[in-house]
Order: sequence, then structure tokens, then C-alpha cells
Amino acid sequence: MKQRLFTPGPTPVPHTVLLRMAEQPIYHRSPEFRALHDRVRKACQKVFQASGQVVVLASSGTGGMESILVSLTSPGDGIIAVNGGKFGARWAEMGRRFGLSVQEITIPWGEAVSPERLADGLRRAPRTQAVCLTHCETSTGTVTDVRSCAEAIRACSDALICVDGVSSVGGLELRFDEWGIDACVAGSQKALMVPPGLAVVALSERAVGATARATMPRFALDLGRAVASAATGDTPWTPASTLLAGLDVALEMLNQEGIERVWARHRRLGAGVRAGVRALGLELFSHFPSDAVTAAWLPREVSWDALRDALRSRCGVTFAGGQGEFSGRIIRISHLGYVDGYDVLAALAALEEALGACGFTVNRGAGVAAAHDAMLESGTDRRV
Ligand code: PMP
Repeated sequence: MKQRLFTPGPTPVPHTVLLRMAEQPIYHRSPEFRALHDRVRKACQKVFQASGQVVVLASSGTGGMESILVSLTSPGDGIIAVNGGKFGARWAEMGRRFGLSVQEITIPWGEAVSPERLADGLRRAPRTQAVCLTHCETSTGTVTDVRSCAEAIRACSDALICVDGVSSVGGLELRFDEWGIDACVAGSQKALMVPPGLAVVALSERAVGATARATMPRFALDLGRAVASAATGDTPWTPASTLLAGLDVALEMLNQEGIERVWARHRRLGAGVRAGVRALGLELFSHFPSDAVTAAWLPREVSWDALRDALRSRCGVTFAGGQGEFSGRIIRISHLGYVDGYDVLAALAALEEALGACGFTVNRGAGVAAAHDAMLESGTDRRV
């Protein structure tokens, strides 16, 4: 049975990327590696819309978040972390572990932080070193308006603006330079269409300057060191060169499509999935739905375990379930990365079939038709 993955990481990997990664690893102290490394860093700049430093770490996304905190702060510094889900909570927890003074702005899951809340937090703690945001809160399918938040932060503070873009960079609109972001981390296994194992971190000039002053103990995840090595095309430690080779191909695909068109594709897919699940009678979980992943309440009479099993055994389809207190209560359908409109139609057809198998009455075809219409209407070229 053909397997179809609709989880918000890992996401499907294009065959061209897989084939490149089937090649023998290359030696990392070689001209060949340095050329690859330089090419990947330049291509990443286009995806982040960043003109400054980009470094690639052999780490999952969480390590990239950690590299940002430990490289930009000193023990006892104050940070603000927005907790509106599992990944926002991670910024806060990480900060506390490192002995930072964390002002946690807690918002209900499915809500997005307002610029006013951030400005208010900064008024209370004017010496805040960093504000940590989550662009796409994957646990709730919620997008944060990073542009407005950054504007509000800049208007009243010099705090560094740190963005978890693990599940958004390369999928959702993000303009690192223009929006005034200082540090942003992406994950390879999300919109970047590569298997898990790389964290990509973009830094502003201000952030690079901060790495020289920050005294938090650090070693392997020292961004200052990564930036210094990158000046000669090198990495401080052995890089995950096979994944980097895959990323090279994936970035070429993204940049050939054009980042603006990639964002538009994700907007189209998001509109399609939202219309489809609503047409089946499901309610969206988030009040600020992300175009990367859609979270919807499960109908009361449907058990997540039964739905997950029906999806897998009848359709070869994998969705993600809820996390934390919403485990078993919501479904999450990813439309991030190497996904097109026909994948979305397949996901909705599978959802219809599996809901039916679980005893929930669906008007077969309603979700697929609504998704199809929404995608045709979204954008100007009338295509899925
Ligand atoms: N932040 C967000 C928004 C994520 O979606 C994830 C992964 N689901 C992470 C951080 C953590 O990334 P990783 O699991 O690769 O460490």
C-alpha cells in the first residue's frame, strides 16, 4: 500500500533529494564540501529572506533553539517567552534550565499572542535581553503575526527577537530582514523537505554581535563559533554532510519555484484543508489557523485511536494527533513542504473514508469538493 505522510515533521522528501543522499559521504575538510556548504548557506538566505549569517547545525530543531538561547544570553538575563502551546512552552522551560529570568506570557492553546501583550511585557521588564516567539505553533496549528509582534517589540525595546520557525521557514511567509528578526531557526524535516537532523539558524548583525558578549556556558552549539568557521566554508565540528547534500537539492527546488510562490502554495493548501474539514462538520481548533498544519476537533463520538488505525490500515495515511491536554481530542493534518493540491484531496478523501469507518456520518465527497473549490479560488491561476 502506498504510504502518505501528513505529519508536521517529518514531511515527505522528494525523490531527487533522496537520490542525492544515496551518494557516498564527502570529506568535510575539502574544497568540494566548502562549495556545497557555501551554496547551501546562500540558498538559505533566500528562503529566510535574510542577508546576514546563516549556519547549519547537525541537530534537531530543539538544538537550534538551544543554540540561540545559549549564544545570545548570559546567566541571569531576562527573556520573554510566549507560551501558547508545546513549543512556546519549550522556550520558557529551556530558559529556566539555563538560569535565565523568564517572563512567560501564557495564552490559551489555539490563540496567538498580540503585539500589545508583548509591549506590555516589555514595559514591565525593560531590560529584557530576548523575546522568544513561535511562528507556527505546531501543537495547535496556530500562526503568530511575527511582523506585527516584531514591530511592537522594536518600538519599545532593544531586546533580540528570536523566532522558532522550525515548522514555518520555507512554507509560511517570513521576511527575516524586513521584519527585523534577530535569530530564527528552521528544521530540516519540515518545509525544507529533508529528513530530520539539521537545524538552520539565521542571525542578524546585532545577534552576531551579541554572541561575542554572551557568557552563557556553551560549546557544541556555540553560534559564534559556527559563524567564524563558516567564513572559510567550514564547520567547527563534523557536519551532517549527507543531509546537507540533500538540503542543497531541496533548496534548489524551493528557489526554482520561487519563495513567494512557495508561500502562496501553502496559503492555497491551508485554505483547501480548512474548507475540507469544515465541510465534513469538523470544527477548527485554532483561532489563527496556520497554512502549515491544520488542527481540528475530533467529533465527540470518534476515538482518535480508531481513526488513526482506520487511516493507516485502509488508506495508508498518517495524520498527527493532539499533544498535551489535547491528546485524543484533536487531529492535525500537515500540508507543509513537498505537498500539492492533489495530496490535500487525497488527505480529505482518506479522512472521509476513515471517519465513515468509525461510525461518523459523512457526506462522501463533500470534504474533497469543498477543498477543491477553495484551492481553485485561492490565488489567481485557478489551479490546485
Ligand atoms: N518548534 C516547533 C514549532 C516544532 O514544530 C518542532 C518539532 N515538531 C520543534 C520546535 C522541535 O523540533 P525537533 O523535534 O526537531 O527538535
